[in-house]
Amino acid sequence: MAAKDYYEVLGVQKGASKDQIKDAYRKLALQFHPDRNKAPEAEARFKEISEAYAVLSDDEKRRQYDSFGREGVYQRYSQEDIFRGVDFGEFFRGAGFGGFDDIFSQFFGRPGGGQPGRGEDLTYHLQLRLEDIVQESNREIEVPRNEVCQTCGGSGAKPGTSPRTCGTCGGTGQVQKVQSAGFARLVRITACNKCGGRGYLIDDPCKECRGRGNVAKTRKISIMVPAGVEDGQTLRLRGEGNAGESGAPPGDLYVVVNVAPHRIFARQDSDIYLETKIGVVQAMLGTDLSLPTLYGDVKLSIPHGTQPGTVFKVKGKGLPKYGNWGKGDQYVKVDVEVPKSLSDGQKELLKKFGEQR
Ligand SMILES: [Zn+2]
Ligand SMILES: [Zn+2]
Repeated sequence: MAAKDYYEVLGVQKGASKDQIKDAYRKLALQFHPDRNKAPEAEARFKEISEAYAVLSDDEKRRQYDSFGREGVYQRYSQEDIFRGVDFGEFFRGAGFGGFDDIFSQFFGRPGGGQPGRGEDLTYHLQLRLEDIVQESNREIEVPRNEVCQTCGGSGAKPGTSPRTCGTCGGTGQVQKVQSAGFARLVRITACNKCGGRGYLIDDPCKECRGRGNVAKTRKISIMVPAGVEDGQTLRLRGEGNAGESGAPPGDLYVVVNVAPHRIFARQDSDIYLETKIGVVQAMLGTDLSLPTLYGDVKLSIPHGTQPGTVFKVKGKGLPKYGNWGKGDQYVKVDVEVPKSLSDGQKELLKKFGEQR
């Protein structure tokens, strides 16, 4: 099934308000909640509408979706991140439903869920200046992380030996307990105590990694930073996080781009703002200014009679538009400086000037 538009999924208009989105979700969620609707496709529908709601009810995620679609959302947020911070409980509390967390554990296979050792996600903060993002660039970053131990190949067992399956959990790493409470049927899955959730035991640990299966390394990773990237934008590098346990997949690396405030330029999306001052005579007679931009100096002609606070547009000297064609503009606000002290000669001239007007 092709991924449907989130707004379509909830049956609301593109510009729908938060309340409209909430109402639409409430209605659909009660209809498709797996505790109430036993149709085979209900669970998938429920997950679909819950995901749509999770994204559209969050300003930041909704903006990302509106600009870049589902791909954009998936690029920036993991499945867990999409649902993080959303209070689904408000829709179901007291409605006779099973614990909502349990439903989501089913969706995402947590906790444990057969993949107890997936490596942790890592976050790296990349500091950039405005000058760094006028074009796409390749950056090399050094990331301290855990990597698979080369000595034991990640098994954690001394070369020549191998881990043995845990008898208590039969190698699954987890034990199940089923509880019934009224309508709710809770399946509690907990990690096996004997093996710590790993599903295996190591009698003879590898000396290099002391049985952990991975070792701390600082890895140079090269990343492509898109032109015009926003401050706070996150780039996701799949599989570049910490190594997983015993062959489990690695986590992801999230590179958060921080664009430092500039000494003279301010930024608004792809537009750049600069303030400059000219003298009162320049403002009256007009002048040519040489002004800095992110691409070097440009000449700006100030016409005679320019009023204080006038804003001039220098076309195409802003940042490249992120994820889009073209560039923003640079806006130059011109302030007029009135001299605080004058010589006698200047006063004489200005008096004559005043009389002539
Ligand atoms: Zn090892
Ligand atoms: Zn076990």
